[in-house]
Amino acid sequence: MPQIRVLPDLLINQIAAGEVVERPASVLKELLENAVDAGSRSIEVALEQGGVRRIRVADDGCGIVREQLALALDRHATSKITSLDDLEHVATMGFRGEALAAIAAVARTTITSLAEGERHAWRIDASDRQPAPAALNHGTVVEVADLYYNTPARRKFLKTEATEFAHCDEMFRRVALARPDIAMQLSHNGRVIHRLPPVEHTKRAAALLSDDFIHHARPIDADSGILRLSGLAALPAYSRANRDAQYFFVNGRFVRDKLLTHAVRQAYADILHGQRHPAYLLFLELDPAGVDVNVHPAKIEVRFRDARAVHQFVFHAVSRSLAAPGAAATGLDAE
Ligand code: ADP
Ligand code: MG
Repeated sequence: MPQIRVLPDLLINQIAAGEVVERPASVLKELLENAVDAGSRSIEVALEQGGVRRIRVADDGCGIVREQLALALDRHATSKITSLDDLEHVATMGFRGEALAAIAAVARTTITSLAEGERHAWRIDASDRQPAPAALNHGTVVEVADLYYNTPARRKFLKTEATEFAHCDEMFRRVALARPDIAMQLSHNGRVIHRLPPVEHTKRAAALLSDDFIHHARPIDADSGILRLSGLAALPAYSRANRDAQYFFVNGRFVRDKLLTHAVRQAYADILHGQRHPAYLLFLELDPAGVDVNVHPAKIEVRFRDARAVHQFVFHAVSRSLAAPGAAATGLDAE
C-alpha cells in the first residue's frame, strides 16, 4: 500500500515556488510589489548576472519589526489581509503571503529592515531565521542570491544572462509605468540602466516607451463613474509585429487579460489589419470589489464581476480616442 505523508515545509515551499518563481524576473516582480505595498517613495534594484547571481531590492517603505522578520518568510503569512472580506476588497499588490517563503526555498535569501520606532535595523537570513543587528538608514533591503542553487532541475530552465536580464528589465518597466510617483532605479552588473525620478504618468511613459510610440499615441481619459480608463493608445502607424508594446493595468496591476485584450483589439478592428498588433498603455481603475485578482498565483489574470460592462467601456473609450480628429495629440513629442 502507498503511504500518505504530510510533506516537509521546505518541500511544500519548493513546490509552491514552481508557480511563483519561474525565473529571476518573477522574483523581482514579487520584491517590487512588496516594496510598493510598503508605501515606498523610492525603490532601487540591483541585479547581477541577469538576476540569477543576485537580485537586491532596497526600499524606503514601512519596514518590518524584528519580531516579524521570521514570520515574513513563512508561508501564508501576510500583513495584508485577515479575512475573506479583505480578500474581496484587496487593494495591495500582494495578499497570498507566499512569495517570500517560495523565494527563500529556492535561493539564498536575506532581509534587512528598519521599522519605524526601532533603534536600529535587523537582518535575517532565511537559512537560520535568527535576526541579528544590522545597519540600514530606512526601509527594507531584500537580497536573493544564487537562484535555484538547491534545485538543479529548475536551474536548467534558466536562459542566458541577456535573456533573463531582459525579462527583469520588462518587469521593472511594468512597475515603473504603473507607479510614476515612486522614484525607481535599476542597475545591472554595476551599470545604471534606468534612473527615474518621481513624475506624473505621461512623463514616466515618455521616459520608458519609444519616442515613436509617444509620437503616435492618442490620450485616453474616460470615466463612467464606476470605471475609469486613462493612458495612451497608438495610432495604427505605430502598430507592431508582436504584442510587446501592450501594457494594460487594472488598479495598478499589470495584467494580460483576454477580455481586455479583445476589447482593445476590437476598437482597432477597422483601422488595423492583418497580423499587426496595437500598441497601448492603459490604466483601468475600478472598485477592487468589482474585480477578482485571486485567479492565478502570479495574479496576471483577473476576473471582472461585470465583464460585459468592462468590455463595452474599454471598447468605446479606445474607439472614441482613435476616431477623434487630429494627429497624435499627447503634446509629449514637442518637449
Ligand atoms: P504578501 O506580499 O502576499 O503579503 P510576501 O511573502 O510577499 O507576502 O511578504 C510577506 C510579508 O512580509 C508581507 O505581508 C509584508 O508584511 C512583509 N514584507 C515583505 N516585503 C516587505 C517590504 N519590502 N517592506 C515591508 N514589509 C515587507
Ligand atoms: Mg508579496
